[in-house]
Amino acid sequence: MSEYRAVKGTKDIFPDEITSWKYIEGVIHRVVGLYGFQEIRTPVFEYTDLFQRSIGSTTDIVGKEMFSFRPEPDGRSVTLRPEMTAGVMRAFLQANLASVSPVHKLYYIAELFRKERPQAGRQRQFSQFGAEMLGVSSPEAVAEVIDMMMQVFTSLGVSGLRLRINTLGDFDDRVRYREALRAYLEPHSGLLDGPSRERLEKNPLRILDSKNPDIQSVIADAPKLHDFLNPSAKAEFDQVLLYLDQKSIEYVIDPLLVRGLDYYCHTAFEVVSSELGAQDAIGGGGRYDGLARELGSKSDIPAVGFAVGMERLLIAMEKQGLLRHIVPPGPKVYIILQNKELKIHALSACDLLRRSGIRTEMDLCGRSMKAQMREANRQHADYALFVGSSEVGSQTFGFKNLRTSGQDFLSIREVIARLASSTKHVDVPDGGHD
Ligand code: AMP
Repeated sequence: MSEYRAVKGTKDIFPDEITSWKYIEGVIHRVVGLYGFQEIRTPVFEYTDLFQRSIGSTTDIVGKEMFSFRPEPDGRSVTLRPEMTAGVMRAFLQANLASVSPVHKLYYIAELFRKERPQAGRQRQFSQFGAEMLGVSSPEAVAEVIDMMMQVFTSLGVSGLRLRINTLGDFDDRVRYREALRAYLEPHSGLLDGPSRERLEKNPLRILDSKNPDIQSVIADAPKLHDFLNPSAKAEFDQVLLYLDQKSIEYVIDPLLVRGLDYYCHTAFEVVSSELGAQDAIGGGGRYDGLARELGSKSDIPAVGFAVGMERLLIAMEKQGLLRHIVPPGPKVYIILQNKELKIHALSACDLLRRSGIRTEMDLCGRSMKAQMREANRQHADYALFVGSSEVGSQTFGFKNLRTSGQDFLSIREVIARLASSTKHVDVPDGGHD
């Protein structure tokens, strides 16, 4: 054992788990492809002011959760990305993608970094899969993005999810509401906790997010954002709900859902899982039409997107037993060397099989035959190929099916021909859910 430990809030992902990750990623790539989304990869760090500007200085992320540093002592501060939307929008504007086509559908699976207090389902390095539709945020676009997110969950077989949805109205609606909410809360400020009192000044909407039961009871009688919406914002939201109904997507309208980030407008949504305990949000998103201008765009870029936490998705799937059958693929063939002098023949058989696309393993440590057989079984090999003096002489090898124990004597060419028809050239087993 080494004295070194992974940094607090980070986790290693070992091969067994990688198989589950790859399976989930495979389903994501497939499903989003059906909706015409294309993958984007942006740098892991960006200039700090990008996040300050886009996420907003009153948020927890910018206020206290960013890992920031200066590569040069007098240089500009950079930050490990705490979310993807800002970087994707920055890349979109920098490459002037709007001039290429009016609508871009982008998705990512990416690592993020937030200096939060680690606990179950909350890490300092974590991953999200997410999508951003840039150039359109019509009710159809919002419904499509939500539908795609839910379709990924359905394809993975995840149950027990609840979609909460709300509208934040447009900028002016929110300004009027913010004032009304502040006016209501100020006389109650003695009942608020520290963080909520801070938010009262800077961003009172965030108080609606509070999980503190005392504050929730104060909020219960607060003015409702819905009553401050202009008629067209209301009509747009109704349209989104209509499309969701048409797609048979169940939702709960939650007037208290505001989402933490400043750039959201109109529809906002969140998916919670009954499997996740305190950190029950598995993903969320919404419309962010104002972000492009905030980042210096001369024209409006309507936009809608979401992000889903991969670790929480994995936790929920594990609890529902959905990953039990996702095991790393064992070798198709394990070569059993009967006599060490024949190693060169075993190596060349191994090369031939691998070059023919057959997953093949052999012992590299000079272990006994018994130990090799034990290893073949431990790795769940399908077949054993025996290489001994008589086999090398005759060029036919004992080829044993380790499931049925049936044995044939075949040339390497015959082994390849037999396996070629049954070998699938994939690294990840089919999940069987989708
Ligand atoms: P957000 O970008 O804060 O809206 O988060 C979207 C999703 O990312 C959440 O619903 C979680 O599933 C996941 N997430 C956010 N922060 C963390 C974290 N610190 N550790 C693990 N997952 C996270």
